[in-house]
Amino acid sequence: MTTDLDGLTALVTGGASGIGLATARLLSERGADVAVLDLDPSGIHRPLRGFTADVADDASVRAAVEAAAGALGGIDILVNNAGIGAAGTVEDNPDEQWHRVLDVNVLGIVRTTRAALPHLRRSPAASVVNTCSIAATAGLPQRALYSASKGAVLSLTLAMAADHVREGIRVNCVNPGTVDTPWVGRLLDTAPDPAAERAALNGRQPHGRLVTAEEVAAAVAYLASPAAGSVTGTALAVDGGMAGLRLRPE
Ligand code: NAD
Repeated sequence: MTTDLDGLTALVTGGASGIGLATARLLSERGADVAVLDLDPSGIHRPLRGFTADVADDASVRAAVEAAAGALGGIDILVNNAGIGAAGTVEDNPDEQWHRVLDVNVLGIVRTTRAALPHLRRSPAASVVNTCSIAATAGLPQRALYSASKGAVLSLTLAMAADHVREGIRVNCVNPGTVDTPWVGRLLDTAPDPAAERAALNGRQPHGRLVTAEEVAAAVAYLASPAAGSVTGTALAVDGGMAGLRLRPE
């Protein structure tokens, strides 16, 4: 077993499901002591440690980050992964929904990072990895609010990387394509024929299938690891080529 994260500690937000859960498990398998911060961490079991917080609520974030740092004995790796979706054009989402999604997806990262920074500053191997999305740059239809939130996550990642590079804190993000998580499962379940919709969705991916949560977790683990010690201010696409390739129609 690879144990390149031996002796390190990690906090993963939104770590009770999907990409966050796969990431928490992989970081743990690779030797890190891992805490999960989530709205509902009741399904989290040892060796992972669960802490309840809403990233949209500053007091709950500060309390959970302090509790997690106390239990872990510090924070070396912060994975800002908690996020929510929204469909529609600018005509479809009322202001309240814009405020809510930006509050969770963007300010959630600000709050958690702000609370974790004193601990990251004490780490000899400090790293932040944000879960962004290909929506940040792809110009996806019917995703105005979600895309704007992830565009902000991308810019925030670069700004944070610049602000903290001299302190030895690396900041990167992953840009997943369409990932087979409970989130996507819930969307497919609303289709008249979920199996047909899933087959169609697979067919729309350049490599013919959805990305797995484990594949995104592997990218996060790399960015968080000592092997990426000179990597900061980058966005790593894990999307089967969705964002970068210009495929000709078949
Ligand atoms: P998911 O719904 O399976 O898991 C999200 C987790 O975040 C849940 O455990 C949920 O309880 C938690 N969460 C949500 N709001 C929270 C809040 N306010 N405070 C604390 N925890 C909260 O979703 P997923 O597909 O694993 O998505 C995780 C991240 O990946 C999100 O940031 C999402 O935008 C991003 N992403 C997902 C996909 C995809 O196709 N699934 C693609 C690109 C990016």
